[in-house]
Amino acid sequence: MTPAPDQHVPARITVLSGGVGGARFLQGVLRLLDRTGASTEVTVIANTGDDIWLHGLKVCPDLDTVMYTLGNGIDTERGWGRTGETWHAKEELAAYGVEPTWFGLGDRDLATHLVRTQMLDAGYPLSAVTEALCRRWQPGVRLLPMSDDRIETHIAIDDPDTGERKAVHFQEYWIRHQASVPAYSVVPIGAEKSSPAPGVLEAIRDTDLIILPPSNPVVSVGTILSVPGIRENLRATSAPVIGVSGIVGSDHVRGMARQLLGIIGVEVSAAGVAEHYGARSASGLLDGWLVDTVDAGLVPRIEAAGIPARAVPLMMTDHDATADMVAEVIALAGS
Ligand code: GDP
Ligand code: CA
Repeated sequence: MTPAPDQHVPARITVLSGGVGGARFLQGVLRLLDRTGASTEVTVIANTGDDIWLHGLKVCPDLDTVMYTLGNGIDTERGWGRTGETWHAKEELAAYGVEPTWFGLGDRDLATHLVRTQMLDAGYPLSAVTEALCRRWQPGVRLLPMSDDRIETHIAIDDPDTGERKAVHFQEYWIRHQASVPAYSVVPIGAEKSSPAPGVLEAIRDTDLIILPPSNPVVSVGTILSVPGIRENLRATSAPVIGVSGIVGSDHVRGMARQLLGIIGVEVSAAGVAEHYGARSASGLLDGWLVDTVDAGLVPRIEAAGIPARAVPLMMTDHDATADMVAEVIALAGS
């Protein structure tokens, strides 16, 4: 569907985002605003559970993916990291035998982490640092970390070398082990004692639409939901909460959602994820859920769980196709 150019776009939209999937979805949000001429204020609450300290530097993969993508600095082939990147520092570190060597730390990207770490050392909270970095990148959205507190997602795995059960940082599970080792649990360490960053709860309470994009339901959206206060405010807000499935057919479109849903015991389907988030009319979060057209057969089951659902094309092949998805979110919110 090509939505009418005069489709009513809410004045304020809040999106809970991970990295690549969330960033691509946000490109569609901005394209829809272009197309309709709407002057919507978009606030993004980004996952920081993927954050990791490397070589003394604070690295925030999802914040940076959103910032670089919307600021036209992303390597579009890879989907993460800077365009025109070189890897000299990484090679030099490896030559010194300094671990870890599996993390892709590019030279240009390194400058971002240096600036961030210096500001954190000087006492600025992550939210203020993110705002400062965004002054350069001008992403066209207000980008907020979910929390200023240190939260790091860990995964319990069987070490492929020793066979021992141990917890590793999510980045190690994903990048080093390619999400292909036996895994048992997902723990957002630090979350239970954390608080939402300044502006986060306001962005949930004082908005006209909240979107859960196709971001990973376990380690992106799930981690954001683990920050005390966020889930409660989502349940209480007067804005509709509409989600978009990142599972199409019986698999993720990219990434490792299939493996992670398996770990937490959620069925790997658009209906399984919808039921996992739950209907707001019951004790969950959703006022609406979009599934891909290939999953149209799941709509009755999702609606039986109390969640109004529609089947529409959900492949983010280009900005216009993604903008059409966003238009469908807005239409479902208004129905
Ligand atoms: P990450 O932090 O880089 O892993 O990115 P996100 O958590 O924001 O998004 C990852 C999720 O986006 C994965 O579970 C994918 O299945 C989903 N995804 C990626 N591309 C598409 C797409 O074109 N359509 C849909 N529906 N989901 C997608
Ligand atoms: Ca991520």
